Amino acid sequence: MMPILEVTGLRKSYGSTEVLRGVDLHINAGELVCVIGPSGSGKSTMLRCCNLLETPTQGKIVANGHEVTSPSVNINRVRQDIGMVFQQFNLYPHLTALNNVALALKKVQGKSTSEAEELAMAALDQVGLAAKAKSFPAQLSGGQQQRVAIARAIALKPHVLLFDEPTSALDPELVEDVLNVMRDLRQRGMTMLVVTHEMAFAHAAADRVVFMDGGVVVEEGSASDVFEQPREARTKSFLARYA
Ligand code: ADP
Ligand code: MG
Repeated sequence: MMPILEVTGLRKSYGSTEVLRGVDLHINAGELVCVIGPSGSGKSTMLRCCNLLETPTQGKIVANGHEVTSPSVNINRVRQDIGMVFQQFNLYPHLTALNNVALALKKVQGKSTSEAEELAMAALDQVGLAAKAKSFPAQLSGGQQQRVAIARAIALKPHVLLFDEPTSALDPELVEDVLNVMRDLRQRGMTMLVVTHEMAFAHAAADRVVFMDGGVVVEEGSASDVFEQPREARTKSFLARYA
C-alpha cells in the first residue's frame, strides 16, 4: 500500500538544539493516526515540517507521491495536498464563517466567488454548520470556530489532514463536538494525522498510535497495542499519567 504521507529520518534543529532527532512515520490512505507524547517532545514541529511551516534540517517527506523536501517543491501545491488544523483556530475575525472557508478557495485555488461560496457551504454543511454560514467568529463557540477551521481545511480537498491538538483550547463540553466531526471525516475516508491529548479518542478512534518522546518515535502500533500493551518504559510512564 502506498502511504499518503511518509516521513523518513526527519531532523530539525533550532540553533544547537536538536528538536527532532530522526522521526520516521507513515500514514496510509484512509487511516486516522494519533500522535501522543509529552509536551516538548517535538509533535508540533513534526507536523509543521510536513507542510513546510518549518524547514526540516534533514530527512525526507513525501506526500501523495510528491517530495515535500525537494528543493524544487511547490509550496502552494504542498499546502493544498496537506491541510492543517491548529489548536488556535486562526479564523479571520472580520470575515463570516462562509467567507473564512471561501477565502482560501479563491486565493489558493483561484475559484470564482460563486463557486468558492458553493464549495464553502458544502464544507460547512459537512461539519454541521451550514446554519452559521453568516456568523462571524466572535458569534460562535470555540467548538463551532474549530469546526469552521476544519471546514476551511477540507474545502481544499487535501490528501491528508494534520491536526495539532485541535481540542486543547476548547471548554470541556465543546470537545466532543469537534471529535465527532473528526470521527465523521474518518468514516468518509479522510486520511488524518492527529496530535492529541484526548487519550480516550485516540484509543477508540485511531487506526494506529504513535508515541513520541525526546524528538523521536519511541513506539508505534495499533491503538489497542499501544494503550493496552505498551512495550517501552517511556510509553508506560507517559500513559500512567492518564490512567
Ligand atoms: P510539542 O508539540 O510536542 O509540545 P514542540 O514541537 O512544540 O513540542 O517543541 C519541541 C521543542 O522544540 C521544545 O523544546 C520547544 O521549546 C522547541 N521549539 C519549538 N519551536 C521552536 C522555535 N521556533 N525555536 C526554538 N525552539 C523551538
Ligand atoms: Mg505542540
